[in-house]
Amino acid sequence: MLTYDVLIVGSGGAGLYAALESRMEEDVQVAVLTKVYPTRSHTGAAQGGVNAALANVDSTDSWEEHWFDTVKGSDYLADQDSAELLCREAPQVIREMEHWGCPFDRTKEGKIAQRPFGGASKTRACYAADKIGHVMLHTLYEQGLRHGVDYFNEWVTLSLLHNGQRCLGVNALDARTGKLHTIQAKAVILATGGYGRIYWNRTSNAYGNTGDGTAIAYRAGLPLKDMEFVQFHPTGLRRTGILMSEGARGEGAYLLNGWGERFMTRYAPEKMELGPRDLISRAIETEVRQGRGGPEDEVFLDLTHLGAKRIMERLPQIRQLCIDFEGVDPIEEPIPIKPTAHYSMGGIHTDINGLTSIEGIYAAGEAGCVSVHGANRLGGNSLLDILVFGRRAGVHALEYARKTDFLPMPKNVLKMAQSCINGLMEGDSKESLADIRRDMANLMADKAGIYRDETGLTEAVNKLEELKERYKKLRVQDKSKVFNTELVAGLELGNMLDLAEIVVKGALSRQESRGAHYREDFQYRDDDNWLKHTIATKGTDGKPVLSFKPVTITNFQPEARTY
Ligand SMILES: Cc1cc2nc3c(=O)[nH]c(=O)nc-3n(C[C@H](O)[C@H](O)[C@H](O)COP(=O)(O)OP(=O)(O)OC[C@H]3O[C@@H](n4cnc5c(N)ncnc54)[C@H](O)[C@@H]3O)c2cc1C
Repeated sequence: MLTYDVLIVGSGGAGLYAALESRMEEDVQVAVLTKVYPTRSHTGAAQGGVNAALANVDSTDSWEEHWFDTVKGSDYLADQDSAELLCREAPQVIREMEHWGCPFDRTKEGKIAQRPFGGASKTRACYAADKIGHVMLHTLYEQGLRHGVDYFNEWVTLSLLHNGQRCLGVNALDARTGKLHTIQAKAVILATGGYGRIYWNRTSNAYGNTGDGTAIAYRAGLPLKDMEFVQFHPTGLRRTGILMSEGARGEGAYLLNGWGERFMTRYAPEKMELGPRDLISRAIETEVRQGRGGPEDEVFLDLTHLGAKRIMERLPQIRQLCIDFEGVDPIEEPIPIKPTAHYSMGGIHTDINGLTSIEGIYAAGEAGCVSVHGANRLGGNSLLDILVFGRRAGVHALEYARKTDFLPMPKNVLKMAQSCINGLMEGDSKESLADIRRDMANLMADKAGIYRDETGLTEAVNKLEELKERYKKLRVQDKSKVFNTELVAGLELGNMLDLAEIVVKGALSRQESRGAHYREDFQYRDDDNWLKHTIATKGTDGKPVLSFKPVTITNFQPEARTY
């Protein structure tokens, strides 16, 4: 059996930073287990920037202002102590990244360059053209290799092992051979990213963002938090949902409706295109619903006035994606866009060190919910979250691993994992994986997307039950062992169905509108009744049980949120 002091599941920015921190002592053995090759993790797709109040461009910026912007952006659902840590520690982690060799763009004076971003009162997002995630991920991977972190690439984690109090390890499938393994670990850090793929056809997320770690934690009895909050990014490419970074608007791009109007004058007259994402996504949907969209119910992101030089210099990747996937050159004409499911505010409930309710089990990054983003994340704050809280989880797991021993591993721990695989592999069925996945995604986009109401959400709860029944009958057609991608997709679909159910039930229960969660039948924020986190745990009947937890308010009393 493989044995590690600290085992990290996921090789995005959160996982790689956690790995590096927990490997700071020579005799602590650390491994990263990842279902894709490390540098293909979704972090590598991040385009626009990472926030830190360095005050390099606007000398009046401060971490306190960043803190306030974050709390206001969250529609007051963020825990203010966590958000404080996020903003206070931001300059330190960015400098650490710089020292490790992360090639940020520079100001004329040679400092780290910063650009404006949505919902921010100051120019605060550090960037590297439109490839910030790519350069961060490569820097962290290189440092991990240098520091002796072990990597298990293309290994799919199936389940989390614990004894009710303490962590034991995980079960995983080596996709390259089809073999199942138990890996024993004193500490496990889940850093498996978000669950945006539950909206399969309308998301900016990588194919692997199926919420595996979140679903695995839920099935292992760990509570999930605020799962109903899913952010729609206003500017996804019309037909594919591929992201056109907020960096484009940071550089001065306009949003135009089908009539050529800069419609944000109606919704955020001060901030205009740099309003927060939840507000702009709703503004776009409203324009389209009221008949002011383009021929395919899209609106347009106009960069043409920025000029070819600036576009080529600052937004080269955006331009190429646009040419490749939409056949439009943004130097010449406006980009057709639609809102796209982008970020999972909800996740595994943790404290400020990433610790869950089980000793030795941590979660960090988009898979976790320490609650810095509340009901709506600000652009540039997620890459920051993965650094700050990836690092904290790593530091804490290292400390924990040093002071604990390995627990004996019970026999037959692989049995459940094996029967789950057998369930998908043995026999035949008429159900098609792609059909169930498509029906789930359409249902989520229609009934649990930007606009929600009781009728639609109730329908979604019922339809999801039917889909789960169909899933039980699903058998994969590919019976091979080596690189069975259909089997992996089958496992992922099971995870997504579990999470979709929790998202929908949380959304149905929350009778108010806050941040990314907008109920047409309850259009206002209701602090008297709903200034609280939703906690979902798995009930004895296998269905989610909801409870609530107060929001930590330390400094900013909730007020009306205008931009
Ligand atoms: C297109 C795009 C652009 C973005 N731009 C920005 C931006 O400019 N600024 C910003 O702040 N944020 C941005 N974000 C958000 C931000 O990039 C992500 O929230 C963040 O990178 C998530 O990092 P992570 O480490 O939590 O997870 P990810 O980077 O998603 O990595 C998840 C990891 O988990 C592994 N994994 C998953 N399931 C399993 C399993 N079962 N077994 C083993 N391994 C598993 C995967 O292999 C992967 O390595 C963007 C997001 C997208 C989608």
